[in-house]
Amino acid sequence: MTITPFDPVVLPAACLTTTWLPVAARSEGGAWSLPLAALRGSSDGPCLVVLAGVHGDEYEGVEAIARLCTELDPAALRGTLLMVPICNPPAYAAAQRNSAVDGLNLARVFPGNPDGTLTERIAHVLTTQVIRHADLVVDLHSGGVAYDLPTLVGYLHDEGEMGRRSLAAARAFGAPVLWGHPLPIPAGRSISAAQELGIPWLYTEASGGGYARPADVACYARGVVNLLRHLGMLDGAPDAPAPAHHLVGDGNLDTVIDAPVGGYFRAAVALLDDVDAGQPLGHLYDPFGARLATVSAPCPGVVILLRRVHRVHAGEGLVHLTQRMR
Ligand SMILES: [Zn+2]
Repeated sequence: MTITPFDPVVLPAACLTTTWLPVAARSEGGAWSLPLAALRGSSDGPCLVVLAGVHGDEYEGVEAIARLCTELDPAALRGTLLMVPICNPPAYAAAQRNSAVDGLNLARVFPGNPDGTLTERIAHVLTTQVIRHADLVVDLHSGGVAYDLPTLVGYLHDEGEMGRRSLAAARAFGAPVLWGHPLPIPAGRSISAAQELGIPWLYTEASGGGYARPADVACYARGVVNLLRHLGMLDGAPDAPAPAHHLVGDGNLDTVIDAPVGGYFRAAVALLDDVDAGQPLGHLYDPFGARLATVSAPCPGVVILLRRVHRVHAGEGLVHLTQRMR
């Protein structure tokens, strides 16, 4: 089978094209492929790339893209909108964060490897056939089954041109929380692949829990329309309320405060609470209610992530703190 790399120049004008990007042969026959919704407008313009389902248990972006496919009018569009609603089909099929085929986290293997495992090949196809064409990338995530986060848009906090464009796009998106991340962006993410290619990026988070709240789906779908307006791809100004919170800090959720012992976790704080150094963030209990450990704040901060699944193993992440923008 000869695989011809996807290029948006082949798309018909003023039309929604839905197709599948081949990735790799399946061991049981057939092929793994990625769903792609491509809207080419009636005239030339920028290219916006929207990704969802990088983690297979996060549904807000999946539903938002499906809604946009039915609601957007390609004839009213300038430029090209490329949307991949399910970036990680083997994880989505299993309703879990990581791939059920090779166990890898797609958000840790970008820009991928054409000769690697399935997850690495998916990242390579996304990087070379989708992200590469973008003037702006937005990757729609949420807390998935295990974590809870406020509805937020994350952007590059930097003085340079990339940071300026990322912040402007984040404000246009219109999420209630803005979260800026200074360089370096941790490797392996879709957004670090975009950063390497010199493409401004955003990502989003929301509550998750294996369920897409209608308000979060609406926020994500409206946010993409706002980005189309911000980029001049649709007429009109973004409908973006001012954010209620503007935060800044390390967005690497691999480095959250973790559990010193296994047990039943009960948080003692809520999302977006301001906490002092030493303040208890939560407690771990044994099955008879005895307190095994208390997790305390190592520094003052704002609660940006909380463990949702009560049962925790030692070393699993519980809480992440960040800072308010000064
Ligand atoms: Zn995610």
